[in-house]
Amino acid sequence: MRKITELRFENTYAELPHEFYQKKDPVPFKSPHMVAFNETLAAELGIDPDEKRNPLLAEHLCGKRPLAGADPLAMYYAGWQFGVYNPDLGDGRALLLGQIIDERSRRWDLHLKGCGATRFSRGFDGRATLKSSIREYLGSEALHHLGIPSTRALCVVGSREKIERETREPAAMMLRVAETHVRFGSFEGFYYRNEEKSIRTLADYVIARHYPEITSGTKEGYGGFLLATAEKTAVTVAKWQAFGFTHGVMNTDNMSVTGLTLDYGPYGFLETFDRDYVSNHSDHFGRYSYGNQSAIARWNLEKFTKCLEGLVDKKQAARAIEIYNKTFSETYRELMLRKFGFEKEKRESLRFVEKTLGMLAESGTDYHIFLRSLSDVSRDGSFEKNPWLAELCATSGQWQQWISEYAWELRENSLPDRERKKLMDSVNPRYVLRNHIMETAIREALEREDYSEIEKVRKIFENPFSEQPEHESYAGASPEWAKSLVVSCLS
Ligand code: AMP
Ligand code: MG
Repeated sequence: MRKITELRFENTYAELPHEFYQKKDPVPFKSPHMVAFNETLAAELGIDPDEKRNPLLAEHLCGKRPLAGADPLAMYYAGWQFGVYNPDLGDGRALLLGQIIDERSRRWDLHLKGCGATRFSRGFDGRATLKSSIREYLGSEALHHLGIPSTRALCVVGSREKIERETREPAAMMLRVAETHVRFGSFEGFYYRNEEKSIRTLADYVIARHYPEITSGTKEGYGGFLLATAEKTAVTVAKWQAFGFTHGVMNTDNMSVTGLTLDYGPYGFLETFDRDYVSNHSDHFGRYSYGNQSAIARWNLEKFTKCLEGLVDKKQAARAIEIYNKTFSETYRELMLRKFGFEKEKRESLRFVEKTLGMLAESGTDYHIFLRSLSDVSRDGSFEKNPWLAELCATSGQWQQWISEYAWELRENSLPDRERKKLMDSVNPRYVLRNHIMETAIREALEREDYSEIEKVRKIFENPFSEQPEHESYAGASPEWAKSLVVSCLS
């Protein structure tokens, strides 16, 4: 395990022509301190988790002390934002420091967010709030541990610096870790400027780094890259839908070319099954509502496909959307059937799932608690071990009737109860990162500079499917006070 000073950075992105980035050093905080350090991820990266106790760690991680070999740069990209093309985005407040190689020879981008203005800042301050940094830190780790492809988060560095948002808020930096930070928007900037050579260069870069099995330089090779992106995007978005996650800002600049959940802003988990659920308070028309996510991802993919049209043949381009549709439906269907404990893909079972979602929407029943409870229903229709279900049935006759239909479906199409419970509990989380859980951690950080809740929450959500009786209070529905919480783009 390496000390932070023993890391040797490289930056393959810096080997691309200069139009791909602006080289730039972070603007460090004057007196930084550690807010959170993800020991689990550190160990995965081959970094000594004990570095947490290194008094100079915050200085190393906010740009105040050098990291050997780092070659920081702001990546250029464009993007379709809320349906309107913006040619001029790029990392306005983040820098790709470079890559490190872990003990399994995997290459990871380390990307520092909130580290000062760049050429792409468009007059904004280049900083990020402590609040939004904590939200991304917790959210991205929680998704990863749910099995949803995502960027990861190594740490949050705090400061005494205040920045202007709705109020004056403390600034922080978050160190993001991902296999890539290349976005759909990274291609779009060049496409709309007719710079085909740069599109090819970027495609070659992504293929070399992420698809070693694909031969670059041929129509088939570029087509393979396009189809892989379509497939990965579909898998991720299908998982968002099944787990009730809403990204909030699905602009093409926030879409990863390897299907990672990227750029955590005003995201949220729905509470009740509501297709119109909008997590982003600034999204006035609900463009990025929970129910629109699959269609939006497809729209984004169409835009991305356009960028590659000069490199692939028409037939392959047309297949991207087909593959997206097919993969999305299959992945979502398969996950939902598993969540309900059905073994085979039978038409009746699928219809039953659809009907149940309709009932959940109508009755305003908690989506997550409901699904987690289902593994307690046995094939004979009893559910003694689950007082939550008993209460649900006591308040409404329709749910009582539903249980007997469900038991019938289980008898027709499921494994024996004990095996089924195990499988269901591995796809229906006991712990869901609801806004109020993060809000409590954020308030303690802001009001008392107490950061212990952040690490506590991160650790609970490392095992979202396991019973953790000592953390029962994190498993319930949101409290009344949380209903008024809103999250906007301003961060
Ligand atoms: P986002 O909505 O976070 O995906 O950001 C969209 C664009 O705005 C990206 O180019 C960001 O780098 C940029 N941006 C957002 N906030 C800031 C900020 N405070 N300073 C500079 N650029 C920012
Ligand atoms: Mg973004």
